[in-house]
Amino acid sequence: MNVEELFASNVFTMGTMKRLLPEETYKEVEYVIENGGELSLKTADIIASAMKDWAIEKGATHYTHWFQPLTGITAEKHDAFVTHPKSDGRMIMEFKGKELIKGEPDASSFPSGGLRATFEARGYTAWDITSPAFIKETATGPTLCIPTAFCSYTGEALDKKTPLLRSMEALSKQAVRIVRLFGNTEASKVTASVGAEQEYFLVDQQKALEREDLIFSGRTLFGAPAPKGQEMDDHYFGVIRERIGAFMHDVNIELWKLGVTAKTQHNEVAPAQHELAPIYEQANIAVDHNQLVMETLKRVAGQHGLRCLLHEKPFDGINGSGKHDNWSIVTDNGVNLLEPGETPNENIQFLLVLACILKAVDTHADLLRQSASNVGNDHRLGGCEAPPAIISVFLGSQLDDVVKQLVETGQAENLIEGGTLQTGVSTLPDFEIDATDRNRTSPFAFTGNKFEFRMVGSEDSIGSPNTTLNAIVAEAFCEAADRLEAADNFDEAVHDLIKEYLTKHRRVIFNGDGYSPEWVKEAERRGLPNIPSMVEAVSALTTEKSIKLFEKFGIYTQAELESRAEILYEQYAKTINIEALTMIDMARKQIIPAVIEYSNMLADTVIKLKNAGVDARTTKDMLEAVTDKLTEMNKALTALKDSEAEGSSMARGKEQAFYYRNTIVPAMDALRKPADALEVMVGKEYWPFPTYADLIFEV
Ligand code: ADP
Ligand code: MG
Repeated sequence: MNVEELFASNVFTMGTMKRLLPEETYKEVEYVIENGGELSLKTADIIASAMKDWAIEKGATHYTHWFQPLTGITAEKHDAFVTHPKSDGRMIMEFKGKELIKGEPDASSFPSGGLRATFEARGYTAWDITSPAFIKETATGPTLCIPTAFCSYTGEALDKKTPLLRSMEALSKQAVRIVRLFGNTEASKVTASVGAEQEYFLVDQQKALEREDLIFSGRTLFGAPAPKGQEMDDHYFGVIRERIGAFMHDVNIELWKLGVTAKTQHNEVAPAQHELAPIYEQANIAVDHNQLVMETLKRVAGQHGLRCLLHEKPFDGINGSGKHDNWSIVTDNGVNLLEPGETPNENIQFLLVLACILKAVDTHADLLRQSASNVGNDHRLGGCEAPPAIISVFLGSQLDDVVKQLVETGQAENLIEGGTLQTGVSTLPDFEIDATDRNRTSPFAFTGNKFEFRMVGSEDSIGSPNTTLNAIVAEAFCEAADRLEAADNFDEAVHDLIKEYLTKHRRVIFNGDGYSPEWVKEAERRGLPNIPSMVEAVSALTTEKSIKLFEKFGIYTQAELESRAEILYEQYAKTINIEALTMIDMARKQIIPAVIEYSNMLADTVIKLKNAGVDARTTKDMLEAVTDKLTEMNKALTALKDSEAEGSSMARGKEQAFYYRNTIVPAMDALRKPADALEVMVGKEYWPFPTYADLIFEV
């Protein structure tokens, strides 16, 4: 395999365009990518034609505008390149510029949160020229995919892409103002870069198909713990088993062809859990690529007789999956604004950027929390395996000490240095050690030259988290630039500003153990918000503070924010409703009949033992214990059925979502408990579906 040749072989890259397009056309594309604006129709026609020829050569017959509606996944509607001129009855392969740059899918069945009435079906897709077109190879045959943004007839964003692109422009504009203040006249653009580490589980496809819960909700709704969990720490970074290795090998090939820079792969903490990380890239491309990563993991898993579970918490009692969103901001002349350099205490631009980010995160902690919430993540956040639901920033000992000095004295003259670590073995090298250790428990950790937002759920799009990050930091940069541009004495003003921001927002810094109960108390004392669940986080979107922020930078209108809130409430209620119905179905049609069969066998045995004149007490005790649990389970089942009926008849919206969270989720827990207890009591051959042990230790 020649990886260099394989890489991006299915992508219409800048290089491909340079090769295939007339020079003038290529220049225009390059200009629009760099500076924005629209392509002329003439240029679009030339590009479309070249793209079509390139795609056909690779076997494509269809193209699609590929977009990211508010479902959190991607959407595509394929059209063949063909036209059918009436005159001669032939089919002609054709692709027009108009078809490349704009599309008009029927939008009525995508969530719009009231932005568009169902009868107003029109939606528009527009080519995001900054994210290259690519060919997806699936069973439908190679298909040319054109990454697009998706808007309503009235111009409101109906997707995750449009606000992200808007936020990137806002951040770029404000960040350029900051670097200008420090004499950087070369930079004309600042780009948010993102690298998303993706966690996932792999289970056997056949076994997964025997469980309705995995089919309908992507997670197990019943299941007693296996005798072994993750307590031996033997899976993390462990040897990759052959079957999984073959899967990873194919995933890499597929991703490389798509131009996704898959780099790191390893076993994760939980048994059957793994991770894949690409090399970071421009935020919007990283968002697109993360969608392709998720899709490819699922597709290739099927080819290997496996099922990839992207859910945040597929199994109770062992770690769930997240997605670490690594984020940094880099100028187009190559300066990473988050690079502290050798002496961060003297790097005033870095300290200003840091102070602004602390201010942004503290001011908008509720929005960040919201951006990382989804139904599945409710099982993780705050669960002693993932960051707590409280937003705090980890800076590490070196920077924390710099901040402390600045706040206390206004100067940061000292710097905690790293050192060398002696290995004590003459044949091993000594290590230069960092001045700062890592912290696994922080939701927002500074890791050398980037921030790692570690709260995001594994199944979620990274669109919203990055839109939010870009937006809140753009606002802080804007306020700082407003003040500093107007200052008479810049050095003094910047010094004062850094001190002011750090003093005011230092409370958001926390370097300790984020999983500890003491932190929850300490955070409360500091007045930091602790938003326990997704439904409670939604209202952060529509506060006055949030509307002001997003409208100021043209990222979301108030209507767009309100629509998103509405969609989230709906998504929550619908998701929990599916889970509740699935539990009811499994309990009624599978678990209870199995338990009855087992009880029946015990009852028969009791009678036979008695007839044989031996002591039947043990069997009778077992029968009684099983019957008691069954009674408890049946009661819980009735309660869940009743509350589900009530919930699903409520009007959609906030009240319904809270009903699901406060009434139905506890009713589901109440049903699960006796069922899991029964699983432990009932004979293995009676249990109607694969257990945790079957699923996670036998892949
Ligand atoms: P880990 O956090 O697991 O030790 P790394 O820190 O090496 O791993 O990288 C994790 C992810 O962060 C990768 O996707 C990597 O490309 C990305 N990353 C590294 N540097 C940056 C940066 N400056 N900006 C954004 N992402 C980055
Ligand atoms: Mg990491």
